[in-house]
Amino acid sequence: MISDTEFQKAAHNNRRIFDKIQGLYRQLPATTCNCRKPGTCCVFLPEMTLMEALQWLRVIQQQPDDDRKTLIVKFVEFYLTNPIRHMGCPFLSEGHCGIYEFRTFACRAYGLWSQATGRERTRASRDGKQTLVKMWQRFGIDLPAESLVAEMDYCDQVDCNSGAAVSDDRLMDVLEEIYRLDNELADLQTKFETEYHSDFSFLITALVLNPKKAVLGKMAVIKELSMTGTEQRLKKLLSQIKPENINTLD
Ligand code: SF4
Repeated sequence: MISDTEFQKAAHNNRRIFDKIQGLYRQLPATTCNCRKPGTCCVFLPEMTLMEALQWLRVIQQQPDDDRKTLIVKFVEFYLTNPIRHMGCPFLSEGHCGIYEFRTFACRAYGLWSQATGRERTRASRDGKQTLVKMWQRFGIDLPAESLVAEMDYCDQVDCNSGAAVSDDRLMDVLEEIYRLDNELADLQTKFETEYHSDFSFLITALVLNPKKAVLGKMAVIKELSMTGTEQRLKKLLSQIKPENINTLD
């Protein structure tokens, strides 16, 4: 049985792997974003592998106390209020990525996939959100119509600085190599994927509240937000956060 604190220890112990991830990221071309509203694509959290999640956990562990607490509260609020509220990635700061060096493969590849692949991925993501709406309906909760923000069309505003586009096959090769790094922690990877649905905000919430309170709390928060628009449950849960559960282990 793997305890949740194993994620904490793994984030501390796998810095060697994080160097490998950075090496793989460097195989992607440098890009320029020509969007007039940078950061609008960061409304949801990116998909990520276990090692990328541990790398993010390490980033949070290493923040000064106040910054760490602020980030943790943002991630918990993101988890508890999503899908009704779309507050954006907690690392987004004034339209810019606050952890540019550590942003995930998914963040880096957005805009690099061919338009055909990008549109297909956007379609699959929109379908996933409709499935989510039906899941909440099974719990007796109808998400308010205004909460069902349509995912933006796939971006065509990213240019490779070298001028040469990178192929989908090349992107898939790099992604597969990043996935293979998870093999070193296969049990933890299975737990992250099956119990946390590869959702970093869920992992953080489980660490600072506890897994059961995270799940039941989210149900209560979404129910209250969707039915009355009030946020008493949300405020109560945010007051119960234990940021000390995510401390640097150095
Ligand atoms: S990590 Fe950075 S680039 Fe990725 S979604 Fe968050 S703010 Fe955007």
